Amino acid sequence: MSTNGDSLLACALQDDRFLVMEDYQCATARWCPGCGDHAVLTAFLRLLEEEQLKPEDTVFVSGIGCSSRFPHYTNTNGFHSLHGRALPVATGIKLERPDLHVFVVMGDGDCCSIGGNHWLHAIRYNMDVLTVLLDNGMYGMTKGQTSPTTPEGFPSNTQPHGSYLRPVNPIAATLGMTNASFVAQTADWIPSHLFETLKAGFHHKGFAFVRILQRCPIWTAHLFEEAVRTPDATEFLVHGDGFWAKSPDDIYRRTVYHDPTDLDMARWRAERTDRIRLGVYYRNTGAPRYDEIRNLPTHSSEEMVEVLGEELDRFAV
Ligand code: SF4
Repeated sequence: MSTNGDSLLACALQDDRFLVMEDYQCATARWCPGCGDHAVLTAFLRLLEEEQLKPEDTVFVSGIGCSSRFPHYTNTNGFHSLHGRALPVATGIKLERPDLHVFVVMGDGDCCSIGGNHWLHAIRYNMDVLTVLLDNGMYGMTKGQTSPTTPEGFPSNTQPHGSYLRPVNPIAATLGMTNASFVAQTADWIPSHLFETLKAGFHHKGFAFVRILQRCPIWTAHLFEEAVRTPDATEFLVHGDGFWAKSPDDIYRRTVYHDPTDLDMARWRAERTDRIRLGVYYRNTGAPRYDEIRNLPTHSSEEMVEVLGEELDRFAV
């Protein structure tokens, strides 16, 4: 795990002052102009400020892909891991350091393809981690290959006549897994909804899975164009005990009452493809959490150094 140097130290040394978004930002994000990742980063910086999370108590974990550059841009602890492996890394961190706020950022190839097995088991383990899937329907960093969420018929560099198969539905897949406890969907082009959804996921005690529909002007430029240009193409799931869409109300008028404790209805809505649905699909605050059940003892720094030393000695030549 790495920390981001001097600026983190500055935050840590002044932990009694009010931290602002700039305190949590590290380096200029180098995503393409117009990339939805910028909006997601801003929403996270806002969340860190509003919750006044200490940088030294916060970890961003990622895999490989455009969105996986996230840990480089947040002035917190960070772990830019291997392709598809963000979730087991985050699980290990949370087990050993339950006091940390752990965030996972993945792309669609990262999560739904090579990381698919980890994704399913992370849902079942239900550790207290906020996980976001930035879904642009394509492998972006590696130059436009079909991903598991590429729509059927959508051309790519690997399937130029159009994707052969129906795409994976990440919301339906998550809702179908044993012990799912928080499942939501939002979009990068509606900042207030994006922020409120992340906030709801952060406050959920358990594995919060948020799929973010993310624009990629390079490889899937028109994928969400209709939804962006036509507010009525989007429906917001609202509920008094769930999540209310706030400021979008005056533009996005299509809302539907949805009880987030109703798993069958959540699955039914997730399977429908007539329009985009944003909001909290499902929330179960009573689902068992592996980190609570297992209840690992925490170790002091000295104990950890001793154990690590013994382990390394086994391989010394
Ligand atoms: Fe964003 Fe697409 Fe550029 Fe990647 S290729 S940084 S996803 S716009």
